[in-house]
Amino acid sequence: MHRPRIHLLILCYFIINSGYTSAQSQETNSTTYIKAGKLFDSEQGKLLTDYMIKIERNTITEVSKTMAIPAGAKLIDLSDCTVMPGLIDGHTHLMTLDDLNNDAPMANKLLFEGDALRVLRGSKRAKSWLENGFTSVRDLGDSGPFLDVALKRAINEGTVVGPRMFVSGPIIISEGGQVAGLMHKYRAVISDEYTIVRSVDDAINAVRVHVNNGADIIKICANNSPNNTSLTIDEMKAIVKMAHRYDKKVTAHATNDLAVWEAVTAGVDGIEHGYQISDSTLVLMAKKGVALVPTDISESLFNKLYDIIDFKWDREKNMKRAKDRYKDRLQRAISAGVTILTGSDNYLDFKMPQGEAAKNILVAYYEEDMTPVAILRSSTYLSAKFMDKENEIGVIKKGAYADIIAVKGDVENDFSNTIFNVTFVMKNGEIYVQKE
Ligand SMILES: [Zn+2]
Repeated sequence: MHRPRIHLLILCYFIINSGYTSAQSQETNSTTYIKAGKLFDSEQGKLLTDYMIKIERNTITEVSKTMAIPAGAKLIDLSDCTVMPGLIDGHTHLMTLDDLNNDAPMANKLLFEGDALRVLRGSKRAKSWLENGFTSVRDLGDSGPFLDVALKRAINEGTVVGPRMFVSGPIIISEGGQVAGLMHKYRAVISDEYTIVRSVDDAINAVRVHVNNGADIIKICANNSPNNTSLTIDEMKAIVKMAHRYDKKVTAHATNDLAVWEAVTAGVDGIEHGYQISDSTLVLMAKKGVALVPTDISESLFNKLYDIIDFKWDREKNMKRAKDRYKDRLQRAISAGVTILTGSDNYLDFKMPQGEAAKNILVAYYEEDMTPVAILRSSTYLSAKFMDKENEIGVIKKGAYADIIAVKGDVENDFSNTIFNVTFVMKNGEIYVQKE
């Protein structure tokens, strides 16, 4: 094994130059203080008034009511804002943006867009999520052959700007993937987008391949909607067992009650979508501590869908029916004691900044009678806890990364407008948005 070699001249340069700055100025240069009019305590689910936050480099080192601020220190006054941990979008597809009027979006991605252009476009979308207050995302596939790992690396090294990414790599799925109607002779192309599993042994190896390629989480499809195939419980059990062996969580796309029940029975940690779930399955989820990521749609995005696509169905009737169903399922899940996490699943081109479109997921939950405080807790502390990161992100407390945002307005009484009014975004101690 090679030991890293340090260039002596460079080392000498740093040692000599560091002598010119006093300890005092080093402290003030790397220290930032934030004055918060309101502070969201995501752990407790409480809004506190008049708090100070001390940040040293990329870490929060103190949160208290009063704080001695040295003369000349960098002070950011957010006393007319609500300051909160950076939001976490638990279900993104940064490498995918489907044109709502394109009948074959998968062919467009795989055959005409290509990997390089997908990542470049994905990097622009990543920036949009950050600028809208999402300092972390869980990117769950539809990202080609580990393009999400590449984008994550580029963000972490500072090559491009974006949120912290926790990535799944390709979705692990059964025959056919989520591509319905593709002619048999072109089936091979599906393997460019998905990891296809044909047996329990395949399932075990798929997890090894994903972990080896840098996946942070394993995403599976319990059912392949809109396609009609699905993984077996034994295949899912093998995936869960292997993923947990490597300390990776498993989350399952599951749209109907049978798919949810099978995935939960197999031991997954999270359910994505869960549009139809029976009460008994919700009870099982609560008992096993399985989280639900309801990827519901807000009324305003629903209207945009109708503006862009020439649907034949009645707009008002269809929206009411969908929203009633979402609300019923969400409220039953909350009553059953299921942990709700935030996930936009925003991969459709609504002709607006993608991060802003994604923010609509918070509004969707609000329209379905979830309280602002519960929504924000889902989008911060609970989403971090799901990834065992609740001491690092999703919280404003000593030792956590300085991922901090602020919104102007009344979070409790004017949630749907205030949540879009992002005035400040800091990620890892660096400021990306600061509006007057
Ligand atoms: Zn999705």
